[in-house]
Amino acid sequence: MGITRRQLLGWMAAGAAGTAVFPGEGKTAVKTHFAGFPDSAGVLHDITRCIGCRKCEAACNEVNDLPAPAKPFDDLDVLKQPQQLSEARYTVVNRFQPAGQESPVYVKTQCNHCLEPACASACFVKAIKKEETGAVTYDESLCVGCRYCMIACPFSVPAYEYNEPLTPRIMKCTMCHPLIKKGELPGCVAICPKEALTFGSREELIKIARQRIYKHPGRYIHHIYGEQEMGGTSWLYLAGNPFSALSMRTDLGMGPAPALTSGALAVVPLIVGVGVLFLTGLYAITKRKEKIAEEERLEAVNQTRSELEELMQQKLAEQKKAAEKEKEAAVKREVERAVAEAAKPTESEATDDSASAKEEHGNA
Ligand code: SF4
Ligand code: SF4
Repeated sequence: MGITRRQLLGWMAAGAAGTAVFPGEGKTAVKTHFAGFPDSAGVLHDITRCIGCRKCEAACNEVNDLPAPAKPFDDLDVLKQPQQLSEARYTVVNRFQPAGQESPVYVKTQCNHCLEPACASACFVKAIKKEETGAVTYDESLCVGCRYCMIACPFSVPAYEYNEPLTPRIMKCTMCHPLIKKGELPGCVAICPKEALTFGSREELIKIARQRIYKHPGRYIHHIYGEQEMGGTSWLYLAGNPFSALSMRTDLGMGPAPALTSGALAVVPLIVGVGVLFLTGLYAITKRKEKIAEEERLEAVNQTRSELEELMQQKLAEQKKAAEKEKEAAVKREVERAVAEAAKPTESEATDDSASAKEEHGNA
């Protein structure tokens, strides 16, 4: 498949932006600080209240117009296997069976909407943005498909539409930003029958979480996940088990995620630079191939044309020769006929000859 000029310019613009946004740094494409919106909204997921009904998954699917899953959302057997986020699933519920505990524990996972999102910092075309509402949103019209956000996210949340050939997008939970802006609840929060999800100002949610811990110290571990992790996230969690037992990352520290991932993305300008050179070369090769192909096509057409002309000249010459031969033969036939005609005696000559013959006969 050839590269269109538009594709090339898009990629090159991405590369150029990657080097231009951070001129002179030469080591990293990541801004190590992003002024988040600490007063923005968030969601508190009280894991101890979750019953694993998957209604939040169904609501998310509907609100975001995502593809229907292979198995319906009310099929809870799905929870026997680990569920993962994907381009078609912004949120998943997973079941855990902590050792020595009778009842299972259910944990809902989605984008955590970091206060200082590593994905937004890694995105040099600003397709991912932390909104004042608290949501981390994505603008597909700006995205160039580099997927640095996927590398940068410490929670491995952004997914890519690999099966979408024409306009692949980055897909992830948007905290239902359009609904929040209209004053409505995120789809998953609105549907949850057990109030395991609470939407509100992040500061208020932290107060609510602390009150629950103080009121029920035996029910909760004394920690609000997301209050400090990665510099803080808009989604907060309360649980009765250590978060590490629920497959939640506890190795990321309390610093902002962009600083954490800056090392991993240190090679970005190099990749971008090499990428631009590579794409430029690829474009030149493609163009050269196209030029050669066009030249070859023209040469073939010209050759065919000259061969046809030669053939036509040959045929014409043969026809001319045959015509001349025919003409000569016709002339010859005409001459012979004329000569033969001329050689025949006239009627009077024939009469005279007959009379003379008779006379000679009489004399004899
Ligand atoms: S906030 Fe919206 S997009 Fe995010 S998990 Fe809930 S329903 Fe899905
Ligand atoms: S809808 Fe609420 S209770 Fe049901 S799985 Fe989702 S978070 Fe848990």
